Amino acid sequence: MRYIEPHAHMVSRTTDDYTSMVTAGCVAVCEPAFWAGFDRCSVDGFRDYFRQLTEIEPRRAARYGLPHFSWLCINPKESEDLGLAEDVLSIIPEFLDKPNVLGIGEIGLNKNSRNEVKIFERHVQIAVENDRLILVHTPHLEDKLKGTKLILDVLRNAGVRPGRTLIDHVEEHTVRQVLDAGHWAGITLYPESKATPARAIDMVEQYAAERLWLNSACDWGHSDPLAVPKTALEMRRRGHSAAAIDALIFGNPLRFLSQYSGFKVADHVGGSV
Ligand SMILES: [Zn+2]
Repeated sequence: MRYIEPHAHMVSRTTDDYTSMVTAGCVAVCEPAFWAGFDRCSVDGFRDYFRQLTEIEPRRAARYGLPHFSWLCINPKESEDLGLAEDVLSIIPEFLDKPNVLGIGEIGLNKNSRNEVKIFERHVQIAVENDRLILVHTPHLEDKLKGTKLILDVLRNAGVRPGRTLIDHVEEHTVRQVLDAGHWAGITLYPESKATPARAIDMVEQYAAERLWLNSACDWGHSDPLAVPKTALEMRRRGHSAAAIDALIFGNPLRFLSQYSGFKVADHVGGSV
């Protein structure tokens, strides 16, 4: 089995996790900027975090033969502080041209507040101006449907090319809107919230899977860095072919991420888009 982990917060994971992922067949890992489990109190905290995402973590991953890529932003939770958010937006250009930076993410909404929408629009503007890919976080539980609609409106109004935007954490009640708008959709596999392997594969079976990917979104909380390969086992159990599994967990993320010319998988892996 080979797979790409398109959404993992590796700064909060152990070296054992790297070993397990590579052993299970992981050939590239992508890390969106996000909340660190606490609110940072100054722009300097973000400058250090962006250095970690663009310099330090790629070096740590390389020790396991794993190419590491990142996305940059201030997450929606901390965007509530407009002053801090503007300060962070102003330093993103310092890091945007680092070779492992895929684009802007994971931006989006958390509580669907006015300030979050404002900073989401500013991020989208930066991505459009610099012709970069976009990774979008959608809110949790009862806020998800409303937030997804707001997000789709902002992206449409900004003239974003839908095929260059992935909207993450979709569930049964939001996946159709995202795919119908022409975007890519990410299904997040969590032990207790978001999707289980069975729910994820139900969605894959129900919708055309060409613009879907799976991710673990593993972070500092209760989460599983092996959620993607474990879900591949669920597909195998249901009788999906090896080619269909490979397309979903390797081919699809490869196709989306290769829109950034610097994206690559581990040297030992063949594979074409
Ligand atoms: Zn995340």
